[in-house]
Amino acid sequence: MLRSSEMSFLKTEGIVVREVSTGEADKIITILTRGQGRISALVKGGRRPRSRLSAGSQVFCYSDFVLYRGRELYSVNSCEVIEPFYGIRDDIAKLTYAAHFTDIVLELIQENQPAPKLLNLFLNSLHMLARSSREPDLITCIFELRAVSIAGFAPHVQACMACGAAPEKYYSFSFRDCGFLCDRPGCIRHDGAALPLSVGASRAIQHIVFAPVKELFSFGLSREVLDEVVRITGRYLRERLEREFTKLDFLKNI
Ligand SMILES: [Zn+2]
Repeated sequence: MLRSSEMSFLKTEGIVVREVSTGEADKIITILTRGQGRISALVKGGRRPRSRLSAGSQVFCYSDFVLYRGRELYSVNSCEVIEPFYGIRDDIAKLTYAAHFTDIVLELIQENQPAPKLLNLFLNSLHMLARSSREPDLITCIFELRAVSIAGFAPHVQACMACGAAPEKYYSFSFRDCGFLCDRPGCIRHDGAALPLSVGASRAIQHIVFAPVKELFSFGLSREVLDEVVRITGRYLRERLEREFTKLDFLKNI
């Protein structure tokens, strides 16, 4: 049995993804954690620059938190920075990509629902964005498609959705049927609105859906194939989650 004082505290690692000002110098932050999913917590005095809580409670800081469970809301008792992701916060383009990833995880991770795979994907994608020379569009299409796959919306990419054959080369991607179609005449006609698919794009999509975590980011694409995959994953994400994601629109205007 835990004593009541122990029950009132939660020690957890987590990444801050949102902050909203409240009161004179306080803020309420949203933290994504492995064990508890999404958590909202009050940071007393967190907007004061010299607060001992200000560093670890900034957006995109991955920190070690001790949270006190209040009647309505957690409050942050202490937080120690583990990974500040400076490489993202110093770069407006990378910050915009990270904000897009955040919109997606906030759609998929709920309160009190542990989501360790999604959180790992999110953190790995932020690491790639902050520290690697990988094309941000490539990191984005990997993140988008893998995230919806973890959430249970993986497309069917191991066989033709119309005839069930598994050819070397697929002909198109059907958004209606959520998967690949082969080049048999009947299958081509199966969905007239399906998007033509290059061999490179079909292999990339298969890799993103099935690759072990350690190999997920270990590939490159030509600009042409990357553009093709980006179009498919972006639309697939919007249609499966039934909402628009607009953060990346900002990059078209700078
Ligand atoms: Zn077929």
